[in-house]
Amino acid sequence: MKEREDDRVEPTTVIQYIDGQWRNPRQPEWFESVNPANGETVAVCAVSPEGDVEESIAAAKNAFRRWRRVPAPQRATYLWKVAEILEARKPDLARMMTLEMGKVLAESLAEVDTVIASCRYMAGEGRRMFGDTLPSGMDNRTIMTVREPIGVVACITPWNFPLSLAAYKLFAALVAGNTVVWKPSSEVAVCAKLFTEVFEESGLPPGVLNLVLGSGARVGNLLARHPDVRAIAFTGSTEVGKGLAEMAGRTLKRVSLELGGKNAVLVLADADLDKAAAGIVQSAFATSGQRCTAAGRVIVEASVQEELERRIVQLTEKLTVGYGLDPKVQMGPLANAKQFSTVSRYVLTAKDEGGRVLFGGHPVSVEGFEEGFFYAPTVITNVQRHHRIAREEVFGPVLAILTARDFDEAVEINNETQYGLSTAVYTNNLHYANRAARECESGLVYINSGTSNAEMGAAFGGFKDSGNGHREVSYHAFDVMTEWKTIYTSY
Ligand code: NAD
Repeated sequence: MKEREDDRVEPTTVIQYIDGQWRNPRQPEWFESVNPANGETVAVCAVSPEGDVEESIAAAKNAFRRWRRVPAPQRATYLWKVAEILEARKPDLARMMTLEMGKVLAESLAEVDTVIASCRYMAGEGRRMFGDTLPSGMDNRTIMTVREPIGVVACITPWNFPLSLAAYKLFAALVAGNTVVWKPSSEVAVCAKLFTEVFEESGLPPGVLNLVLGSGARVGNLLARHPDVRAIAFTGSTEVGKGLAEMAGRTLKRVSLELGGKNAVLVLADADLDKAAAGIVQSAFATSGQRCTAAGRVIVEASVQEELERRIVQLTEKLTVGYGLDPKVQMGPLANAKQFSTVSRYVLTAKDEGGRVLFGGHPVSVEGFEEGFFYAPTVITNVQRHHRIAREEVFGPVLAILTARDFDEAVEINNETQYGLSTAVYTNNLHYANRAARECESGLVYINSGTSNAEMGAAFGGFKDSGNGHREVSYHAFDVMTEWKTIYTSY
């Protein structure tokens, strides 16, 4: 499809938002946000210098003194307004998401819906910030525990879900009474600007939410080191998360990490293979496989492998790769050149190690979008447990198929990567469904659906190197965002 005139964008400028003001950086330095489908510049964005990052932290610290005293149900009223504004701005937000990181418009719209649902869910939590009352062992005494906010929270977020992954952190932090400095991924700076404007329009007091921009290595590290930042809420790669936790440990910050995955779909011999194939293809190739919960592996019992592979390929070949704003397209480009070369390299390695490509395995040329980072949805079979493609996160549209002798071996293979985010199991056997739920070392287990469909209020997060034990999307986020205080009253 040739690009339509109205799909073109005039590059915009993105600057920092500190203490309720949109501010140019005090030392001018800029980077570009680029459309991965056509190489066009979407925005020119400021890099926040050290002094400005410090000011954003100071503004958040100052605002915390008042914000913490606003009753939680009143803090929630800002979120109710944010949800309304998001509804009104949904088309603009979704379109910009597709322009900046490539996912198809239907997925971008669905992401805004998720953000709205999350906003309303967290606003409701403002009325449910429960504590405990305990029986005292002494006469004339009461004991209660209450949740208190912790202070300035730094949120550091990736590009694959530009709004929702930030939303889970921001909403929980704010309703709990904390103030925030947000550093989004540079790939999606315009989305971050639009989201910040929504908070601004809601009337959120100055300093309660601040936006700083720039590379993780510079700006992210400043936040992780600063003694006035009391918590880091991070979603991104395992390597960066480990480094951040190490740095943050020096000032005893709390750190919540949502990290990588090498998620598997287990298909047992009795499974409904049509259902399994549909779930697998959706899990592997939605967002061009650039999801932490994307299915990178299928582990299938040998007796149904050939039949399952046939169905997976049949569905995969129907996917149209192209520009995310084209309604006929199901899979957009990869988000940037780095992603493109990582995916290409992994496919070559998989072939060198003995994998056999059943479908894809090559870049895709899209007419009118010759500069785009398009790659075919790729299915590779004959993958062995020790192959790199079986163990390492690709973060792209590459599905590796491994064979298991039986249920026990399927679970053993599932559990042998460093990660533990999401596992799906297709079976109609009650015994194996329950054993899989118990024995898979994953924070999320889906029986008879794909690896990625989180619902509001259900704890989200991973085991092992997929996280550090914290959860979000649910009230469990308050374990990071609040501190317990115990109050003894004698009378
Ligand atoms: P990334 O780790 O490169 O970057 C994530 C964020 O951290 C960005 O804002 C980046 O600027 C910042 N950053 C990078 N280096 C930093 C440093 N040294 N110090 C501080 N901040 C730094 O990840 P990405 O490429 O943006 O996203 C892909 C990764 O995120 C994948 O591994 C994916 O699995 C993971 N992810 C996990 C989840 C989850 O919920 N578990 C969700 C989405 C993505």
